[in-house]
Amino acid sequence: MCTGRIDLGFIARSFYNGADGVYIAGCRLNECSYITHGNYYALNMTLLFKRIMEYIGLNPKRLQLEFMTSSDAQYFSGSVNDFVEKIRKLGPLGDKEGLSDEEIKERLYKIITLIPYIKIAERERLRLRINNPEEWEKIYTLEHVKNLIENTPSYWIDPEKCSACTLCAQRCPVDAIDGGKNKIHIIDQEKCIKCGNCLLVCPTKFSAVQKLTGKPVPPPIPEEKRIKVRPSS
Ligand code: SF4
Ligand code: SF4
Repeated sequence: MCTGRIDLGFIARSFYNGADGVYIAGCRLNECSYITHGNYYALNMTLLFKRIMEYIGLNPKRLQLEFMTSSDAQYFSGSVNDFVEKIRKLGPLGDKEGLSDEEIKERLYKIITLIPYIKIAERERLRLRINNPEEWEKIYTLEHVKNLIENTPSYWIDPEKCSACTLCAQRCPVDAIDGGKNKIHIIDQEKCIKCGNCLLVCPTKFSAVQKLTGKPVPPPIPEEKRIKVRPSS
């Protein structure tokens, strides 16, 4: 019902599932019926995803956002017809871009797995309310998106430092930390959405959680070595 509900995941999954183009229609900026002004959020999401498309080699013209009111019937139909014509000229997704279906799926899948991290890292920009279209192109540059994706951090728990206090596991929003009392905690890298909570809550006296950028995550320690032996009183 509202473009404020648009999520990067909706757009990414549409292309992943074979859409050749995605068209989003929402209320005009500053004419939101509520206080949320969700259409600005949709605008920022769309601008960001267009840059992501550029980064992964897809033509960003395949994604379009239009603002209109419910009385703009003629504008709506004309705009949709133009979009359909544009997509027909571009052909199936990947055609003009020179990418196979497998390559597209592989690239989009990587983006889909990074979406929670991207939304956290970009939360300030996604809240922007910039009215001037001339400023929109500057919100997300290709360089910015490249840095964002290529410097995705990983979080890792140093087994030598973990004291099994369980704080990080309690605060992980996606249950990505396996632990328990007297058990050295480990992060399931497949589940981790890179929110950074574990780093924030791990007590300074342990400082067991590390943020790794640009280097591989060490493999988890074997199960039999995870029992935390505490000095006896
Ligand atoms: S970074 Fe966030 S999601 Fe990942 S393990 Fe830490 S708390 Fe969980
Ligand atoms: S908060 Fe730190 S010390 Fe406590 S279980 Fe997690 S990693 Fe280990």
